[in-house]
Amino acid sequence: MSFTVHGQAVSRGVAIGRAVIVASSRIDVAHYFVKTEQVDVEIERLRGARDVVVEEIERVQLSLNAQGSNDAHPELAALLDVHLMLLQDEQLASGVKHWIVERHYNAEWALTSQLEVIARQFDEMEDPYLRERKADLEQVVERMLRVMRGMASPVAASASPGAEDSSNEVPLVLIAHDLSPADMLQFKQSVFAGFVTDVGGKTSHTAIVARSMDIPAVVGARSASHLIAQDDWVIIDGEAGVVVIDPSPVLLAEYGFKQRQGEVERERLSRLKNTPAVTLDGQKIELLANIEQPEDAVAALKAGAVGVGLFRTEFLFMGRNGKLPDEEEQYRAYRRAVEGMQGLPVTIRTVDVGADKPLDRGALRAGDDHLNPALGLRAIRWSLADPAMFLFQLRAILRAAAHGAVNLLVPMLAHAREIRQTLALVQRAREQLDARGMVYGPVRLGAMIEVPAAALTVPLFLRHFDFLSIGTNDLIQYTLAIDRADEAVSHLYDPVHPAVLQLLAGTIVQCRAQGKSVSVCGEMAGDVTLTRLLIGLGLRSFSMHPSQILAVKQQILRCDTGKLATWAQSVLAAEDPAALMAD
Ligand code: PEP
Ligand code: MG
Repeated sequence: MSFTVHGQAVSRGVAIGRAVIVASSRIDVAHYFVKTEQVDVEIERLRGARDVVVEEIERVQLSLNAQGSNDAHPELAALLDVHLMLLQDEQLASGVKHWIVERHYNAEWALTSQLEVIARQFDEMEDPYLRERKADLEQVVERMLRVMRGMASPVAASASPGAEDSSNEVPLVLIAHDLSPADMLQFKQSVFAGFVTDVGGKTSHTAIVARSMDIPAVVGARSASHLIAQDDWVIIDGEAGVVVIDPSPVLLAEYGFKQRQGEVERERLSRLKNTPAVTLDGQKIELLANIEQPEDAVAALKAGAVGVGLFRTEFLFMGRNGKLPDEEEQYRAYRRAVEGMQGLPVTIRTVDVGADKPLDRGALRAGDDHLNPALGLRAIRWSLADPAMFLFQLRAILRAAAHGAVNLLVPMLAHAREIRQTLALVQRAREQLDARGMVYGPVRLGAMIEVPAAALTVPLFLRHFDFLSIGTNDLIQYTLAIDRADEAVSHLYDPVHPAVLQLLAGTIVQCRAQGKSVSVCGEMAGDVTLTRLLIGLGLRSFSMHPSQILAVKQQILRCDTGKLATWAQSVLAAEDPAALMAD
């Protein structure tokens, strides 16, 4: 029987496919399809791994016997028996084979898929002893995965994760309890047509990366990963934040229709790519792209972006087992982004780790595990706490600026002292490059306005910076005291709260009065329901994920800035601005 789970809407579109449940601890397991002729090779890899683990266990049993320790350690002996039994279990073997033969999953993926199926059955057992055997099964699978890691697949080397075998036409959607932004990035080139996670708010970084993948996704769907079983048919409505499990034929037909409509709409929007973003009354609007990786420049250009308004460099620092990128590696990455944009400007933001973008364990610093990480050592605070590391990044950015127009953007500044320290370090980086005789280019310096304290002291920022960029995701989080990553308070996350609008409007007006450029690069910029309001408040530069650019452009083409300015003032003065938004 079909049922529905609700969560936070992340991105437009509908995905219909079979569920692949991935446990958080197994996210790094490779997921790719194998070709028909490689199916036997994968089955053999599994058999080989199982045999190695069986041998390992039998060796331990032998040595226990030899030492006469079986009686001394009866639990250990019994445990080894259970592990051997599980390894030889027919349901495990035949289930794994099914995923490889029928679905063409690679061996590791097939093994973890079947693990999920059997683990559910253990969870439902009445007998607590049997229920606890789930942990044994997980251990056995973990050992097999470890063995397989050591025997590289001959297929994996040639198969890119997205290299779909034409024999496998079933679309797949990924269901997970939680995915960190770095995990999400790993799935960027993957086989999945949609995502659902149990946790996460609408502007959490996991949702932001999901949005950048331009596939339907729902986050904060609470217990979805428990309610959905491996291989269930699932519909993801990324626009409504709805997940339908085991849909009826009627629902399938309805959503299939919606899916096709979405494709037609995309096709229609794609014709706007080369249309200039100009309002009805002739005002030019700048539409920029947010990117996470240098390679995203391709999508930015394809969507008709006139530059990159936000390159979130922290993704270069994540998922690296503690080894942070050095100056050379960063320089090469920034240069790739700059060259990828073919002469259009690239705004490179200095690293913003912390809060819901943690570095992996190995790179954590003492005190990183704070109770309130969003209020802790994040973004510029993290950089200023380690000037040597920060100088690596500043030098790399300055060097990349020799290859094209670069703006350097600093996140989360709040204090005059932080501004002075940051600017002094930028100057130091230049001097160091001079001393080494290295080539670097000019940069425009910008600050993010994403802490209320910054929005209330705009003149200070304008004295020191060439441009400002408003990070509405954090500005809303900090103004309304709502954790953006916590789905439990996401109903309170309100971009049109009067306090937020006052801060936004004040920042835009002051920048314009001084002739300095200002943009919005938070998720508000890509929300078509807010385009008219932002234009009415005087915004002329928007930065968003490439996938949203054309839809926002379509709104802009229908705007009259004069009329919207008058209307925006009434929204600004209203007790309940949301009520006026439909006007
Ligand atoms: C923001 O806070 O709005 C922003 C753009 O930065 P991030 O989402 O990376 O925190
Ligand atoms: Mg931010």
